[in-house]
Amino acid sequence: MIADILLTKDVNTISTSDTTDVCIIGAGVIGLSSAWRLSNAGFRVSIIDPAIGHGASWVAAGMIAPVTEAYYGEESLLKLSLVSADSWPDFAEELQQATSMSIQYLQSGILMVGKDADDMAVINELAEFQQSLGLQSERLSAREVHKAEPLLASDVQGGILTKVDAQVDNRLLVQALVSACNRSKVSFIHQMVREIKSVKGRVERLLLQDGTEILADKVVLAAGSWSSSIQGVPSELWDLIRPVKGEILRLKVPDPLSVLSHIVRGVAKGGVIYVVPRQSREIVVGATTYEKGFDTSVQAESVYTLLRDARMLVPSVCQAQFNQAAAGFRPGTPDNAPIVGRTSIEGVFVATGHYRSGILLTPLSAMAVTELLTTGTINGAMSSFSPQRFEKH
Ligand SMILES: Cc1cc2nc3c(=O)[nH]c(=O)nc-3n(C[C@H](O)[C@H](O)[C@H](O)COP(=O)(O)OP(=O)(O)OC[C@H]3O[C@@H](n4cnc5c(N)ncnc54)[C@H](O)[C@@H]3O)c2cc1C
Repeated sequence: MIADILLTKDVNTISTSDTTDVCIIGAGVIGLSSAWRLSNAGFRVSIIDPAIGHGASWVAAGMIAPVTEAYYGEESLLKLSLVSADSWPDFAEELQQATSMSIQYLQSGILMVGKDADDMAVINELAEFQQSLGLQSERLSAREVHKAEPLLASDVQGGILTKVDAQVDNRLLVQALVSACNRSKVSFIHQMVREIKSVKGRVERLLLQDGTEILADKVVLAAGSWSSSIQGVPSELWDLIRPVKGEILRLKVPDPLSVLSHIVRGVAKGGVIYVVPRQSREIVVGATTYEKGFDTSVQAESVYTLLRDARMLVPSVCQAQFNQAAAGFRPGTPDNAPIVGRTSIEGVFVATGHYRSGILLTPLSAMAVTELLTTGTINGAMSSFSPQRFEKH
């Protein structure tokens, strides 16, 4: 018996004993995919979250874009992203088989385009950077981008095509992961964890919002942007993860002929924008990036700017029906890379800080968490992303 609900007169009592080996805090894509994999590896898993699947994972755009998301100074994150992107086709297939649900994983490719000469200078610099890293990306003239994507504005001047970049419908992904967890007998506890309680450097209990305490021998902290703010988290995680707000729009185009065949990203008069088309005729337009704590409001200015910039590249977006504007929190870290590994509290493991790439990194993160809990170490690409990398020597 490794986790249990304490039965004492000081706390609420729920009689579930001998049922759990691992408690996962947070049911976003990282917690859910880890729960599914751990359960299939033979662990009895409970996942605790008051709002299952409704964090950043619900808000995101669903791009699996290691090449387009390659940034200066983030070469080790790029390597990780390429490995995870490679494992996406099998992961998607396995999840769909397990649940009989489609998650619309599509290798649609990304067209990164520019509107004027200054925008094209940015695009050309990006193309050179991608090519210097040996990434597959192809420069296209104005004629070639319009041939590839006839819905682009006529004055788009050219771009880059990255065929390996892909997408998944992140909301279908969340739903499929919940279903897969259910089928694998993962227990869901609809509560907030208030505190991780440890004794002599070893985790002992989780205190839940309603006062219930769960005996816990192994805990995976996967609470996204909230991972640093739970009482009792290991000291090396204090202040390490911060919420980076992103606002995003969901529209629906009126007819199948108005659906783009690629994800379109671009620079439009200096504004950076993406438009992600779904098979369902939904289009996702995003996203803002700024730091304002846990403020979930959507600014009218952001809606205006996103639509204005998207329309400069794809004029037909303004004929679409406006369905939703939402804000979510990317779990940011000091080096923009995830944190997966063991912590200074024995029995507490962490899988968080996936910043702008949590959907992309889902298959690899779940695999690394499973390897960690099964063998005690991570040997693959994720091995250099432990929390210990931030230790001051
Ligand atoms: C606008 C936007 C666009 C994005 N687009 C992309 C994209 O195209 N591609 C990509 O790869 N990534 C994208 N991302 C990033 C991606 O969404 C995140 O990296 C990823 O969803 C993080 O997953 P997670 O499971 O760690 O966190 P979350 O999905 O935020 O889940 C954390 C969960 O923890 C729970 N929780 C919090 N505190 C507690 C507690 N005390 N007790 C119990 N549970 C708790 C929350 O309720 C939540 O459900 C985007 C993000 C945003 C905001």
